Amino acid sequence: MLRLGRILLGLSMLTAVLAAQTDAERLRLAWPTANHAYANGEPLEAYIQPTVSGLVESGLFGCVRSSGNQFHEALDLMPIERDRRGEATDLVYTVLEGVVRHINPRAGASSYGRYVVIEHDTVSPAIYTLYAHLASVDSGIAVGRRVNTAQVIGVMGRSAGGYTIPKDRAHVHFEMGVRMTDQFQDWYDWKKFGSRNDHGLWNGMNLVGFDPKAFYDAFRAQEVNTFDEFLRASKPAVTVRVATTVTPDFVLRYPSLQVTNSTPLPVAGWEVTFDRFGLPFAWRPLEQAEVEGYRSLEAQVVWTDDDLLKSCRCKDLVRYRSGKPQPDRDLQTALQLLFGIRR
Ligand SMILES: [Zn+2]
Repeated sequence: MLRLGRILLGLSMLTAVLAAQTDAERLRLAWPTANHAYANGEPLEAYIQPTVSGLVESGLFGCVRSSGNQFHEALDLMPIERDRRGEATDLVYTVLEGVVRHINPRAGASSYGRYVVIEHDTVSPAIYTLYAHLASVDSGIAVGRRVNTAQVIGVMGRSAGGYTIPKDRAHVHFEMGVRMTDQFQDWYDWKKFGSRNDHGLWNGMNLVGFDPKAFYDAFRAQEVNTFDEFLRASKPAVTVRVATTVTPDFVLRYPSLQVTNSTPLPVAGWEVTFDRFGLPFAWRPLEQAEVEGYRSLEAQVVWTDDDLLKSCRCKDLVRYRSGKPQPDRDLQTALQLLFGIRR
């Protein structure tokens, strides 16, 4: 019976669908490649592509590179099929239904290489998924077009702008997350990077990810059924209050991340809680008394988990000045993007 069960699981995986819709509440969620190793509970080595270090952790999400000092915002999934020249030929699939928002067809125009971004407007919050380093994009993929779960996006590869991924390390960089702001171009111009933004709102600097494997693990174990449940269970690392009468477009785009039902009128500011990688997962509107004495667009750190922040060496969210916590570089960037702060 066990054997039969495995065969049936294998058959259902031919369509790359991890969890069929057995119950109306559950998402129809697929795996981005036809490799069954994750679904079969095999070790990481059977589906994660490491960097040149050879350490399997380097293909996971988190502070996994350069001895914990470098962030990797995705899962790198290895190929299981190659052509005679040794190039990967695996197809890459959408993991949920949604709308194609961005295609970068020019490998050299991004460190992601050739990549596709899909926004999943039927889930809450409406997360994006991103599939990078593709060899080619399928002709059925066009910006604005709806796609189904487990639809072919393209062929896995090793395209990358500014560096080379060797043949034996071809992979799909698979990211899940949320988008920071609709005013990204304004921020980009203000930063004076000296290069054009070819990716509109879907530039990697405007995206903030969460751990795809943590989500798949929790979903498979039925600990969570939705992205809302998953993000609500995020570990808080830092809470900031910002005085502003403006509601950031982030809150309008992802209303379920607002943690209170009651909104004071007028709103005098926002209290935002970030996870240790800088994802703003909980928002609370503030009354005037809660930002008394703040200047307009002033941001103050009101709570931190110092042990958690210290354990995360690849992100600089908080620094101390005269014993007082202040937004550090990465948190400053997040606040610039979310609130239009320009300092
Ligand atoms: Zn990657």
